[in-house]
Amino acid sequence: MIVGVPKEIKNHEYRVGLTPPSVRELTLRGHQVLVQKDAGSAIGLSDDQYVAAGASIVETAKEIFARSAMIVKVKEPQPGECAMLSEGQILYTYLHLAPDPEQTAALVKSGAVCIAYETITGAGGGLPLLAPMSEVAGRMAIQAGAAHLEKSKGGMGLLLGGVPGVAQGHVVIIGAGVVGTNAMQMAVGTGARVTVLDKSIERLRQLDLVYGNRISTLYSNAHAIEESVLSADLVVGGVLVPGAAAPKLVTRAMISRMKPGAVVVDVAIDQGGCFETSHATTHADPTYVVDGVVHYCVANMPGAVARTSTFALNNATIGHAVALAEKGWRQAMRDDPHLKNGLNVCLGKVTYGAVAGALGFDH
Ligand code: NAD
Repeated sequence: MIVGVPKEIKNHEYRVGLTPPSVRELTLRGHQVLVQKDAGSAIGLSDDQYVAAGASIVETAKEIFARSAMIVKVKEPQPGECAMLSEGQILYTYLHLAPDPEQTAALVKSGAVCIAYETITGAGGGLPLLAPMSEVAGRMAIQAGAAHLEKSKGGMGLLLGGVPGVAQGHVVIIGAGVVGTNAMQMAVGTGARVTVLDKSIERLRQLDLVYGNRISTLYSNAHAIEESVLSADLVVGGVLVPGAAAPKLVTRAMISRMKPGAVVVDVAIDQGGCFETSHATTHADPTYVVDGVVHYCVANMPGAVARTSTFALNNATIGHAVALAEKGWRQAMRDDPHLKNGLNVCLGKVTYGAVAGALGFDH
């Protein structure tokens, strides 16, 4: 199969659909890979590295779309890219169609076979092609939070780990899923005091078994959240209620009673956020202050570490990419119902129930 990797064109998107090691997995099996010139150069993946992995470098996206049977990307296709898709061509990327009727209509019109990373399921449950981005965001939450606790960034001027003779900071993590667990690991690493809250007692049990008294676990309710937040220097919000907006667990009244110069990092902002005072921000202007508390609410945190995110994403996507190239989409999906769950739009029809329901398309 001919597999094409266009350069991402969404504003400030530096990730790339395939890394050179992923290209090699395909070329080793006899597939041809076309990579657009400079597709990975912003994150240190040179055209020479792609050529060494067996790819051919192609000047324009137009040529990639015209020649490839499968397009591998990161972000949802922009209108110009949708227009270049052709009937029966495979598009393998993040799509996030439910809130995006224009993109959905363009993909339906194209007749392409559109597979969304975010709805592919895993044998062990969960969404394995979303998890790497939650891992990145969870780990980054502590890095971003620690940086913004510095005085010059608006924080109270606190070093999370303290020093001998000076107490360490208190990190509170609400939600102990993928984001929360990765944040917790980083927070423990800084030497901070760490409190983790979740509604799932089973999850708290697992963390307690592994981390023992290095962390405190608390069942998440309004009382525990209020008590923890009021003594926190850094609060990370990483809750998710599948299919729903994030619950507003930290109220404005709680924020107003927090320590001045404390920091909150609302990772759940892409689902509306779990702090009542949150609104989405960007990497260009990541924070704002409410009642003396610094809010960091960047909706696409992994974009800041595009190189790490690209490799993490490729680890999760390459297996299905190889299966699609080897078998074609029909057989690959017959063999793997989890991959089939990724099919959102196929040959002019919306095939994913939640997207069709949300947007009123037939399916
Ligand atoms: P997850 O499903 O792995 O974990 C969510 C956790 O929240 C679960 O353990 C669940 O029990 C817990 N939870 C639900 N209700 C709760 C409550 N009332 N109190 C405490 N805990 C509660 O999800 P995840 O992968 O960790 O993702 C978390 C959020 O982060 C999602 O909204 C995701 O979209 C978002 N996210 C944002 C970025 C970003 O760049 N901002 C990046 C990746 C993920």
